[in-house]
Parts: sequence; structure tokens; C-alpha cells
Amino acid sequence: MENCILCETDGAEVIYRTGKWRVLLVDDDNLPGFCRVVLNDHVAEMTDLPTAERTALMEVVWLVEQAVRDAMQPDKVNLATLGNMVPHLHWHIIPRYKDDATFPDAIWAAPRRTIAAETLASRKQRVPFLRNLLKERLTERYAGNP
Ligand SMILES: [Zn+2]
Repeated sequence: MENCILCETDGAEVIYRTGKWRVLLVDDDNLPGFCRVVLNDHVAEMTDLPTAERTALMEVVWLVEQAVRDAMQPDKVNLATLGNMVPHLHWHIIPRYKDDATFPDAIWAAPRRTIAAETLASRKQRVPFLRNLLKERLTERYAGNP
């Protein structure tokens, strides 16, 4: 497989990395707090993974979701795995707000509105808190794990 962006690059700011996966903070101007959990190996589907590895990967997703809720205080969290562009497992963890550009549609839908600049700015101010919270919790849970 050539031209897989998740093999050729980290994909975004790496918050934490083990031999098996990495947690990314996606720098998206319109979606502050957007995170991704990426399996390092080239695997296309969750059901390609042995059950224990599947469960272990989802534990990381749940940890990230909780940190996103605590730090970003969204109205809803969207979890998504598509992988239509690259056969390389990754989960999107997306804080959603009722006034964000595409709510209640998926973030990839056509925008319904423009979010107020001051609202967006106040959400962006929470991102450093999210970064620290993720580092703290991931280190506490996974330090020493290969
Ligand atoms: Zn890849």
C-alpha cells in the first residue's frame, strides 16, 4: 500500500504514543478539541483485530472521549471510524455543539451556519487544558506499556 497518509506522517500533533497506537490532537480551526486515535499497524477493519486488541483500542477511545467531555464540555461527542480513504484503522473523537457549523449533521456535511467568532475563540481556549488532561491520563494509564 502506497500513499497512506497515516503511515507516511503522524497525521497531526501526537499527544501520546505507544508501539500499538497514537493519540492525536487535530488542529482544526472550526472543530477545537477534535482528537483521533490511530492504530499504528495497517489494519482496515476493527474485526480484523483479535478481540483483545479491539477491546484495548476501544479503551483508548473511551479515555479520550472522557477527556474531551471534561475539557471541552460539548453538547455531544461524535465517534466515527470511516477509513474510506486509507485502510488504516483510526477513530475520530469529535466534540459537537448545537451551534457548530454542521450540527446535527456529521461534521463532513455541508455547513448549515457560521459559528460566532467569540464562541469559537472561547472553545479554543479550552484546548490547552484538553492537551494536558490527555497527557496526564494517558501517561497514568499507559506509562510502562510497550
Ligand atoms: Zn497506513
